[in-house]
Amino acid sequence: MSVEGKTAVITGSNSGIGLGVAEELAKLGAKVVLNSFSDRDEDHALAGKLAADTGAEVRYIQADMSKGDQCRALITKAAEAFGQVDILVNNAGIQHVAPIQDFPAEKWDAIIAINMSSAFHTSAAAVEGMRKQGWGRIVNIASAHGLTASPYKSAYVAAKHGVVGMSKVIALETAEDPITCNAICPGYVLTPLVEAQIPDTMKEYGMDRDKVVRDVLLARQPSKQFATTEQIGGCVAFLCSPAADQITGTTLSVDGGWTAL
Ligand code: NAD
Repeated sequence: MSVEGKTAVITGSNSGIGLGVAEELAKLGAKVVLNSFSDRDEDHALAGKLAADTGAEVRYIQADMSKGDQCRALITKAAEAFGQVDILVNNAGIQHVAPIQDFPAEKWDAIIAINMSSAFHTSAAAVEGMRKQGWGRIVNIASAHGLTASPYKSAYVAAKHGVVGMSKVIALETAEDPITCNAICPGYVLTPLVEAQIPDTMKEYGMDRDKVVRDVLLARQPSKQFATTEQIGGCVAFLCSPAADQITGTTLSVDGGWTAL
């Protein structure tokens, strides 16, 4: 793996998949920027803990991924802190579940902004530096919902399909540079984002928790197992390794067979 000494910015990384990716890259010797919209002592303490656990340099930089200027400022501040940004993992994301006729417009706007437009702004801000440095990796955490759809998730599915499309465009625009851009498409990973969907889904389908997990969440995941945050981190590390130098503009599904159905 070749992430040692590289600077990695992971958006939305004080929880769930983002934190799992950060832990994996820090273990492999990357300098890591953790991010979320909050600026609590515990966010900075998390960076301290990750540094102590791994020996990596870790900073927490607050930036709200629903705001374009803050997305861009995150890249600038990370480059100021560590000299440059080599690896950008666009991971921040939220979810809301409702039928289209009831879907709140402000939830639509927030999901499109955080799950899709943030990746446009951070990538736009990072790509010139990557060109100058002569190496860069952009990994977008999309979803199986970037390739397929489910009812009640109009904004999320639209945003994730958008991220997959944008990843292809960035890959083409950087194809002759030593930069790659790919999207990882996880199926269900048990994180706070998924936990938060369980009560609404229980109400929607009138089911208990176990039935929602097996028959709704994992209904389309043939392995009947959640993917783990460590596995997603490992896939990011692979996409940053020399073995993946010619992998660009594509998707890597980590979905227990969901998209093979
Ligand atoms: P999570 O809720 O545990 O983490 C989401 C992260 O995004 C948190 O760190 C949160 O603070 C951050 N965030 C939210 N709004 C933000 C904002 N405005 N600015 C900055 N950061 C913000 O969720 P997760 O399951 O770890 O999801 C991470 C990514 O993985 C999301 O893009 C999600 O769509 C995607 N994903 C998750 C699953 C899954 O099953 N968990 C499956 C496929 C894709």
